[in-house]
Amino acid sequence: MNSRPKSGALEGRCLCGSISFELVVNDGKIYQCHCSKCRKVSGSASNSAMVIDRSRFRWIGGESDIQQFVQASGFQSWFCPTCGSPVPNLTSGDKSYWIPMGLVEGNVDARIVKHVFVESKANWEVIPDGIPKFDDNGG
Ligand SMILES: [Zn+2]
Ligand SMILES: [Zn+2]
Repeated sequence: MNSRPKSGALEGRCLCGSISFELVVNDGKIYQCHCSKCRKVSGSASNSAMVIDRSRFRWIGGESDIQQFVQASGFQSWFCPTCGSPVPNLTSGDKSYWIPMGLVEGNVDARIVKHVFVESKANWEVIPDGIPKFDDNGG
């Protein structure tokens, strides 16, 4: 029973596939973060992430291989030591997981609802209109 995916569960994996997980979407809200840390950690303009209750998340494989980088500010990145992909990390309080959405396979019943920390965005990035933008975390 434990080894079978929950109904409605989506799978995610890093680029090399050694770290994998499953989750069940809750509110379907994806946050697009344009802060300088997300830019470094993703190597791109921004990070697409969803926050999932811990009870809706389960590691499938590779959990013990995960490397953790934590800054003095508390900002952290968990990543695959083989391929370098960011992987889900426990948020402060350990109640939920931060999910880098690019790892999730297939069609996801979710959409980007907020652009956050847009004040810090790279000057070369143009954020499309139509989705609310916030200079902070959007509350
Ligand atoms: Zn990997
Ligand atoms: Zn960020």
